Amino acid sequence: MQIQADDIVFVLNPQSGNAMHPRQLSAVCEAAADEAGRRAAISATRTPEEAAQVARSAHDAGAAAIFGCGGDGTLSAILQGLPAGSPTALGAVPMGTANVWAYETNLPNTPMAAITAQLASLDGARGDARWVDSGRIWSTASDGAVQSKRFLLMASWGLDAAAVEGIVRSDRRRRMKRMMGEPAYFVSAVRESFGRRPWPLSISLDGGPAREIDAAMLTVGNTRMLGTWLEVNPRATVVDGELDLLIVEGAPWRALAMAPLARSGWLPMGPGVTNVRFGRLEVSALAHPPPVQVDGDPAPLTSYAVDVEPGALRVMCPEPTSAVLGG
Ligand SMILES: [Mg+2]
Repeated sequence: MQIQADDIVFVLNPQSGNAMHPRQLSAVCEAAADEAGRRAAISATRTPEEAAQVARSAHDAGAAAIFGCGGDGTLSAILQGLPAGSPTALGAVPMGTANVWAYETNLPNTPMAAITAQLASLDGARGDARWVDSGRIWSTASDGAVQSKRFLLMASWGLDAAAVEGIVRSDRRRRMKRMMGEPAYFVSAVRESFGRRPWPLSISLDGGPAREIDAAMLTVGNTRMLGTWLEVNPRATVVDGELDLLIVEGAPWRALAMAPLARSGWLPMGPGVTNVRFGRLEVSALAHPPPVQVDGDPAPLTSYAVDVEPGALRVMCPEPTSAVLGG
């Protein structure tokens, strides 16, 4: 469908966890847009690349908003097609396994209610559409080629990324994810922690001196939560122009042992567990490279830099009181 100026674009991801029939979902999207006096342009995409292309077309056409109907992976795919500073606002129709963005910003759970609330914020009738930070992660391949990827939620190195990779790699764990949802990541992390040694890394914050650590896990958060269970960066907001970093040093099982505390928002800071803010982080592996994930998808094992993109993304916030929005 040709996208026109001021359209509300919907990207349907038939692969996402909590499938509603695409025809039924399309009808819901059309009805919600129609009720808000807007025109809907609906696109069913099969790959993340297709979703990014639709997002680029939405931006080029001057669409008012683009909704990802799926999980956080669908939002991530759309983000890759939206240039930093695009006035086309990003919205979520939570239908994935975890829906962390929807959880963090208190969006309604059902598709109709989520779309209606976010469209009301676009018109300023309920909350508002506001500019928030995004992150950008740079990787350098062995041939020197540099690639970058934008992220909305977080990037992590070490145990958490090993758990994500474990699910992508194993048919059994993928089936488990379909059946049990988010707890499958915890089970995968338990399996991955057996016998693993820490990853020796060199990190530098905001151009400062490099520091060598033996890491169980690093998480860079634009938002607070790892999944909807673990509050790993409790003070993170998407409106402060900085990213939050949690460093857990030592054996990977240490990061696992802390999960119940992070679940209750009681992560203890002290020796081996630190939480800092930055605008730029550089990470390189000193020995065996750690697994990496960006917004829930595995990323290449190379050296990295992470930058904040302050106020580079417009999102619809019907509940601007949420902590991650600085409310
Ligand atoms: Mg921040």
